[in-house]
Amino acid sequence: MLSNKRKPTANTVGRFAPSPSGPLHFGSLLAAVGSYLFSKQQSGKWLLRIEDIDTPRVCPGADSSIMHTLEQHGLLWDGPVIYQSQRTERYHEIFNQLQQQGLVYGCQCSRKQINAGGGLYQGTCAPLHLNNTNSDVKKLSWRLHSAGVTNQFIDSLLGPQQIEQTLAEEDYILLRRDGLFSYQLAVVVDDWDQAVTEVIRGADLLSMTPRQQHLFQLLGAKAPLYGHLPLAVTAPGHKLSKQNHATALDNWPASYTMARALAILGLVLPAELQQAAAPEQLSYALANWRPAAIPAEREIITSDFG
Ligand code: GLU
Repeated sequence: MLSNKRKPTANTVGRFAPSPSGPLHFGSLLAAVGSYLFSKQQSGKWLLRIEDIDTPRVCPGADSSIMHTLEQHGLLWDGPVIYQSQRTERYHEIFNQLQQQGLVYGCQCSRKQINAGGGLYQGTCAPLHLNNTNSDVKKLSWRLHSAGVTNQFIDSLLGPQQIEQTLAEEDYILLRRDGLFSYQLAVVVDDWDQAVTEVIRGADLLSMTPRQQHLFQLLGAKAPLYGHLPLAVTAPGHKLSKQNHATALDNWPASYTMARALAILGLVLPAELQQAAAPEQLSYALANWRPAAIPAEREIITSDFG
C-alpha cells in the first residue's frame, strides 16, 4: 500500500490524459486533482496529454476547453502538451516491432460477433494467419497475443488487486480496422516515452492495468506504478462521462467543483476556504491532503454533476 512517508523525489512523473470528446466533467476533474496532488506532493512533474487517438470521437475545441478548465482550477501542467494524434509514426514503429516479434495477428471478427460470444474476444482468428493480402478477408483489425498476462498487481492506492483472468488475457486490439491505433497501445507508448512513473486515474481503468503492464514488459520497458481513484457515478455502475452527457464543469464556480473534488478525495476544506479561489484551495490541499484519506469505495455517487 502507499506509504505516506514516501520520500519526495523530483523524479516522480505523473500525468493527466483526458480524451477530448467533450469539455472536462467532474469525473475527469477528480482524476486530474488526484494525480496532480500525488505528483506535486512528491515534488514531481505533472504532464498533460491529450488522448485524441480516437479521432471520430474528438470534439473540436474540447482540448482548449479542457486546458482552460484546468487552469481555472489552478491545475497547471509541466512542459508541452502532447497530442496522440501527432504520434502515429511512433505507434507504427512499436506496432511493427511487436509484429516482427510474432506477437500480432489479423482478426476479421465484428463487434457483433464478439458480443454474441459473451463480449470478450476468444482468440478465434489467432490460428487463421490472416493478412491483408488474403483476397477473401474483410479489412482486418490487429490484435496482440496476450497469453501469459499476470492478472494480479499491487495498486498504489488500493493495494493488491486481482482481475478476472479471461479479461487480463484477452487478445486486445492494437490497430483498428479503420486504421487507427488503439488506446491500449498509445497509452503505454506515451507513458513510456514521457517517462511516467506514477499513473493515478479513475477506477474504470483498473481492469486494464495488467494488460498495460504486460505491454511494457514486452517492450522491455519499466512500467509505472498504477493507482486508481474512486469513480464519480450518477448511480451505481453509471459513470459520469461525456458519453452519458455529464454536465460541463463551467456551469459551476471552480471553487465549488474543487471543494467537492477534494472532499471526495478525503480532504474537507476549512470553512474559510470553502469559497476561496480554486488555486488557493488546491495549495491548501497540497500541504494537507493525504492519499491514505481517499475512501476505499470504487464508486462515489455525485448525481448533481450528471
Ligand atoms: N484517456 C482516458 C480517459 O479520458 C484516460 C487514460 C488513462 O488515464 O490511462 O478516460
